[in-house]
Amino acid sequence: MESFTAGLISLEEAQSKMLAQLEPITDKISVSLQDAPGRITAEAILSPAAVPSFDNSAMDGYAVRLADLQSAQPLPVAGKAFAGVPFAGDWPPGSVIRIMTGAPVPAGCEAVVMQEETERHGEAIRVMAPVKAGQNIRRVGEDIQAGAQILDAGVRLGAAELPLLASLGIARVMVLRKLRVAIFTTGDELQPVGQSLAAGQIYDTNRFTVSLMLNKLGCEVIDLGIIRDDPAVLRSAFAEADRQADVVISTGGVSVGEADYTRAMLEELGAITFWKLAIKPGKPFAFGRLANSWFCGLPGNPVSAAVTFYQLVQPLLARLTGQRGPALPPRQRVRAAERLKKSPGRLDFQRGIFRQAADGTLEVYSAGHQGSHVFSSFARANCFIVLERERGTVEAGEWVEIEPFNALLEG
Ligand code: AMP
Ligand code: MG
Repeated sequence: MESFTAGLISLEEAQSKMLAQLEPITDKISVSLQDAPGRITAEAILSPAAVPSFDNSAMDGYAVRLADLQSAQPLPVAGKAFAGVPFAGDWPPGSVIRIMTGAPVPAGCEAVVMQEETERHGEAIRVMAPVKAGQNIRRVGEDIQAGAQILDAGVRLGAAELPLLASLGIARVMVLRKLRVAIFTTGDELQPVGQSLAAGQIYDTNRFTVSLMLNKLGCEVIDLGIIRDDPAVLRSAFAEADRQADVVISTGGVSVGEADYTRAMLEELGAITFWKLAIKPGKPFAFGRLANSWFCGLPGNPVSAAVTFYQLVQPLLARLTGQRGPALPPRQRVRAAERLKKSPGRLDFQRGIFRQAADGTLEVYSAGHQGSHVFSSFARANCFIVLERERGTVEAGEWVEIEPFNALLEG
């Protein structure tokens, strides 16, 4: 076991070697908010205005001046302020103004008394609870000051960020151009989905997986199709991909079989940084540089291709677009609810199902057969069970680390 895995580099080493070489792209474009979901901010965004932009009421109730509350007499209602329709007239001393949530408070207003704390006497009201200066008034700039930075550069824009920009009237935003990523799969046995299969042929799962994930990550996908296991054809696919893309991704042909030409081609056309990782699934993963682009050679087995895309290519793409924060969800320690088979030597990404046990703590089960050609267990899973390189089989009740799937693997 030692000798078999001794030459493999660890996931951490692979990630740091990859990330150390990459420089984020810098080309920017301006897009409308409608076209911005999934895009990455190219620069920090400053607020053009204060929020709120005027003092306004936090409640439905009455605008008051504190001095007027000394009297025990009911106070006449001298006017109304609605959201969008401010009170415009004169506010006579000894009276209140009816006010609705979001309405600008009239000049001189020192507090808003909520309706529930008043008593109606015809066209007048009596305040029934103590009143503090400033209560129920949302002040100018309380949320955001004019000119304040509201978003960093390198933020992926989604439903948590875009409404904030909309609330400030920002209609367009500077984002990075999309990354151009070329994908081809290799293998004489592969057929596109939708065709019939001859003896020994299988469907091309990986091009579907990788394109799907690239689309979800907001990349421009250049689909170069299925490439036969022929060095000349492969060479021209590499050249074509390198001409068009920032990143070139292939699958298959990186093992040590007789038709595995990908590695040789990368040595001929570029430079390999590494090509064997101490992870399972996903050992034959190659990373390197072509003349104009970065290259990732994913394994052929569909589970291995999906896992290495998720664990290695996802952070790489995040880095190239200068995204802040971790690309992958934090891991957590939970109890294994059952035995998990493992041999020491590689870091395992087993597919698992975590859920809440009867006592409220989290526990994790295997999602089924862990073979790197078995996609059905992936489809059942909601997390990776990440088992340390030197660990052996896990017994039920032992602590393990899980990494919940992020949005890339969910619907
Ligand atoms: P390779 O690395 O090319 O030797 O492929 C390893 C295994 O993955 C073989 O069983 C291939 O048939 C299978 N495989 C390779 N590419 C794909 C693909 N795009 N879709 C589904 N299976 C694949
Ligand atoms: Mg192959």
